[in-house]
Amino acid sequence: MERVTLVEKARVAKSGMSTYINQLLAPVPEDKFEVCRQEMAEWGTYLNDQEWVEILLQEEGHRIHDLVSWDVPFEKDEQGKLRVTRGRGHQNTGVVHCDGHKLMELLRDRLLATGVELRERSMITDLLTSDGRSPTSGEVVGAMGFHTRSRDFVAFQAKAMVITSGAIGLKLRIPFTNNLTGDGGSHSLPSWSQGQQPGVLFLCPPDVFREEVP
Ligand SMILES: Cc1cc2nc3c(=O)[nH]c(=O)nc-3n(C[C@H](O)[C@H](O)[C@H](O)COP(=O)(O)OP(=O)(O)OC[C@H]3O[C@@H](n4cnc5c(N)ncnc54)[C@H](O)[C@@H]3O)c2cc1C
Repeated sequence: MERVTLVEKARVAKSGMSTYINQLLAPVPEDKFEVCRQEMAEWGTYLNDQEWVEILLQEEGHRIHDLVSWDVPFEKDEQGKLRVTRGRGHQNTGVVHCDGHKLMELLRDRLLATGVELRERSMITDLLTSDGRSPTSGEVVGAMGFHTRSRDFVAFQAKAMVITSGAIGLKLRIPFTNNLTGDGGSHSLPSWSQGQQPGVLFLCPPDVFREEVP
């Protein structure tokens, strides 16, 4: 089995946005896929990657059932079933409710139980490339940075990397985004050569761009 290492500049389950989640897309019945897909495309002003929307609709239910089986404390109705309500901006889709802090702590325990190695307080400042160049003509082969308490240099070699460093909270004025300054994306994006696809996710609701950001 491959070794998986999660590198985090703060503490996993306490940093970033995920701890602020309190609603998750409820499982979508198959006969509602099409109407929900259309809703997501239109309300997402066609910015959503349509292939990923399909994957989300097909797999969300399975992931919610996984979370239920891991004892995530979702709110239940009188019959003991998941309480599904209509979330803000939802029309055909629904949401289920849970406390993001508890959810993240449970997922952290789950990661540790499955043998994922956590390297916390390690802030990544650059990617390592096979030719030592940025952008590279070769491959991204790891990452480097420093320990935020000891200030020691840290470096990681990897066969494959996924970067999920969250949104740029400060610049885009998104509230409750602990520690998200955009450094993850700004350090890592230039290293990828043209044609390679970094797995960086930015949360940029269209409304944000309508505001004047000084
Ligand atoms: C207030 C608020 C409420 C929300 N509510 C909901 C909701 O109810 N339901 C919903 O589905 N979505 C909600 N969202 C959106 C959701 O939180 C995000 O889409 C999701 O959490 C993004 O997850 P992520 O893993 O990409 O990023 P994050 O959870 O932000 O994780 C990014 C991690 O990367 C780390 N990191 C960043 N830079 C570096 C670096 N250089 N080196 C090492 N580590 C680094 C950060 O410390 C952080 O822990 C909400 C967002 C906000 C802001």
